[in-house]
Amino acid sequence: MPTPLEPGLYIVATPIGNLGDITPRAVEILRGVAAIACEDTRITGKLLHHLEIDARMIRYDDHASEATREHLLGLAAEQPLALVSDAGTPLISDPGFKLVREARGRGIAVTSLPGPSALVVALTLSGLPSDRFLFAGFLPNKAKARTDILAELASLKATLVFYETAPRLLDSLAAVAEVLPGREVAVARELTKKFEECRSGSPEELAAHYAAHPPKGEIVLLVGPPGEAPAPGEADVDALLRAALQTEKASQAAAQVAKATGLDRKALYARAMELK
Ligand code: SAM
Repeated sequence: MPTPLEPGLYIVATPIGNLGDITPRAVEILRGVAAIACEDTRITGKLLHHLEIDARMIRYDDHASEATREHLLGLAAEQPLALVSDAGTPLISDPGFKLVREARGRGIAVTSLPGPSALVVALTLSGLPSDRFLFAGFLPNKAKARTDILAELASLKATLVFYETAPRLLDSLAAVAEVLPGREVAVARELTKKFEECRSGSPEELAAHYAAHPPKGEIVLLVGPPGEAPAPGEADVDALLRAALQTEKASQAAAQVAKATGLDRKALYARAMELK
C-alpha cells in the first residue's frame, strides 16, 4: 500500500504535447490525491484516462467564484488536493495564482512538482541567450497596447519570451520589427509534438516565411537581447582621447575613454602618451 499523501495543495505540471513527459512523481500524486482542481474536466479527463487514474475533478480557474475557491482551500486544509491546468505548468499563463497565494496565506502546505512548460522548452531550444530572460506572457491583442509593451521592454538586456497564437503571429512579428529593429527572433512551434519546429532569423525574415506558410498550432515567440554597440574605430578613439587630453592628464584621459568605450585602459594610456 502506498503511503497516503499529506493534506495540502499539490501543483502538478502536465505535458504540453508529448504524454511521455509526465513525471513518475506527478502520476503518483495524481493517483493519491482526494481531488484534482483543473481548468477543463474534459481535457484533464483525457490525461487521467491515459494514465488509468480514476479521480474526482473539480473545475477551477482564477475567475471561479470565491465560494469555489473557499471549497478548494477547505479541502486542501484537510486532504491532498492537486492543481493542474490544461497543459504545462499551472500559474504560468494559466490559473492557480489566487489559489496558491490564498493557500500560503492560510498556512496550507503547498508543493510544486516540476515538469513541462513551453517557455523553458522554447528558450532552451532557441539558441538565444538563456542566462537572462524575461517571460511576459501573451502580448496584448490591440496594436497600440502591443507596441507599448514592446517599447517598455526595449532596453532590457535579456531574451524576451512571449506566448503567442497562430492567427496573431504575423502582427506580433511586424510589431517586433517596428519597435525592436535588428533583433534576432525565434518562433518555437508545436513543442514536444510531431511537427515541432524552431525557426530563427530577423522578424522580417520570419514574417516572410510565415506569410508564405501560415503557421498552425501552439507558438512561443522569443526576441533576443539588444546587441552591443559596435566597438569604436581607431579614429573615433583618437578623437575621444584628444578631446579628453585637452583638460586631463594622459592617465585621466585614458580612464575616461576606457569608461565610455569599455576598451582597455592601459592600451588607451599608451595611445594617449603617443598623442600628447
Ligand atoms: N502553462 C502552460 C506552460 O507552462 O507552458 C502555458 C499555458 S498558455 C494558456 C498556452 C500557451 O502556451 C500557448 O498559446 C502557447 O503560446 C504556449 N504553448 C503551450 N504548449 C505549447 C507547445 N507545445 N508548443 C509551443 N507553445 C506552446
